[in-house]
Amino acid sequence: MKVVWFKFENLYYDFRKHSAGGLMRSLKLDEKSVLVIGGGIAGLQVASDLARFGVKVYLVERLPSLGGHVSLLSSVFPTLTDANEILSQKISEVTSYSNVQLLTNAEIKEINGTFGNFKIKIVKKPRYVNEKKCVACGKCVEVCPVSIPKEYEMGLSRRKAIYMPPKAFPETYLIDENYCLRFKGNECKACVEVCPENAIDFSQTSIDVELKVDIIVLATGFDLFDARKIAQYGYGTYKNVITGLEYERLSHPEGPTNGKIVKISDGKEPKSVVFLLCVGSRDKKYHTYCCRIGCANALKHAYILKKQYGDNVDAYICYIDIRTVGKGLEEFYQEVRRSGITLIHGQPSEIRPLPNGSLNVEIFDPSTHKLLSVISDLVVLETAITPCTAVRKVLDLPLSQYGFFQEKNMKLNTVETPIKGVFLAGTSQAPKNITETIEHASMAALKIIETLIHL
Ligand SMILES: Cc1cc2nc3c(=O)[nH]c(=O)nc-3n(C[C@H](O)[C@H](O)[C@H](O)COP(=O)(O)OP(=O)(O)OC[C@H]3O[C@@H](n4cnc5c(N)ncnc54)[C@H](O)[C@@H]3O)c2cc1C
Ligand code: SF4
Ligand code: SF4
Repeated sequence: MKVVWFKFENLYYDFRKHSAGGLMRSLKLDEKSVLVIGGGIAGLQVASDLARFGVKVYLVERLPSLGGHVSLLSSVFPTLTDANEILSQKISEVTSYSNVQLLTNAEIKEINGTFGNFKIKIVKKPRYVNEKKCVACGKCVEVCPVSIPKEYEMGLSRRKAIYMPPKAFPETYLIDENYCLRFKGNECKACVEVCPENAIDFSQTSIDVELKVDIIVLATGFDLFDARKIAQYGYGTYKNVITGLEYERLSHPEGPTNGKIVKISDGKEPKSVVFLLCVGSRDKKYHTYCCRIGCANALKHAYILKKQYGDNVDAYICYIDIRTVGKGLEEFYQEVRRSGITLIHGQPSEIRPLPNGSLNVEIFDPSTHKLLSVISDLVVLETAITPCTAVRKVLDLPLSQYGFFQEKNMKLNTVETPIKGVFLAGTSQAPKNITETIEHASMAALKIIETLIHL
């Protein structure tokens, strides 16, 4: 008979004699609790890994949705898997555990205490829609008179003041205080009157939640570099200069054009698209580090464009170096090279509009010392990943030279911080792709289990 031993430090556990639940109880993991800040792919992974061991997990997300940046992506390199598929799997994993409590649309207000006894104050913001009553029928949306441009969709699509973001959790509507007429002193009652479930509730207020936890995990992710800072690229001035994240929305089957790539200026198909790498990264003026995803992202974007439109479109990638390290990425790079795209060595000095509405992209090639000029209909800026600053107001942690949270040891321990009981998961520590993020989060979970056993 096969003997199944599980070793944790000096403790051996014979799975023939005991159940997994017995393991948790003997290690007293079901008496331990962890706060995970951030509901992106890292937070979801660390929460489900910990929950599997019986640990009580509180996952706090500032937005009314889960999934972080991945909730906006179309398909992901190198496998071109549907991002929604990956995320749905992770969300259903987390929500299957009764020992995970999810608090979305919530903000961390205060963190006090130390390892084994952290005291947390959280404010859960009102949705003005009763989550238990709303059946997501969307009738309120039809009557709401407020229409604003949807975030990241370049003015090509709009949403109402009452809305449901991608991967909303719970899957119900909510009212955006910033735009709802009632918060501007108007007596609008359109959504109240039409809702068949009587779910609209303007009497809702913020709810204070207090928790005591043993350990905190920062899975707060990243922000994106503001491309407006590089004025010569014209982002924010020229409509047909967009960011990589905006291109993701354009190529998304549920995006503003249902996956059709168009010029933002007139909705027509572009004949030529240029992708620029290292926008704000590997640049002494902005961020000197490599964002680790820009190259693979541009390759993915150009490849899908060529697959979709073939010879009807020219795809150019302007690069300093192409960096595609990781399983499957070199193979992906080679395949993209064979797909008919053009790689140009050099970074544009300037993007200028032409009288016919196209854009002139001027590129200096440092190896040949030649100035090239590419006429393009759409320019995509693959912007740098930058440190997320949202949680810093309440938690004073050392930062690395690039502004990400400082790990305990860059080589030997990238999941603990110099503060005992505070852990890192995913891109809060440094730029990472999805695979690396998930691996890092699982590594954090294991280290946390080990730490909790000794508490
Ligand atoms: C345009 C683009 C395309 C990409 N394409 C790919 C791809 O094809 N393949 C691939 O492998 N990777 C891709 N990536 C990288 C991928 O998005 C990241 O690896 C992944 O999002 C990292 O997950 P995360 O959880 O660490 O961070 P995030 O996705 O940033 O999630 C962090 C979460 O924490 C929340 N948060 C932050 N602060 C607080 C706070 N104080 N309180 C509560 N919540 C907070 C945020 O709201 C967010 O939900 C792409 C990235 C971009 C920008
Ligand atoms: S009308 Fe009411 S039940 Fe229907 S989506 Fe709106 S709030 Fe929810
Ligand atoms: S009350 Fe606000 S959310 Fe409701 S219909 Fe009016 S503007 Fe829209």
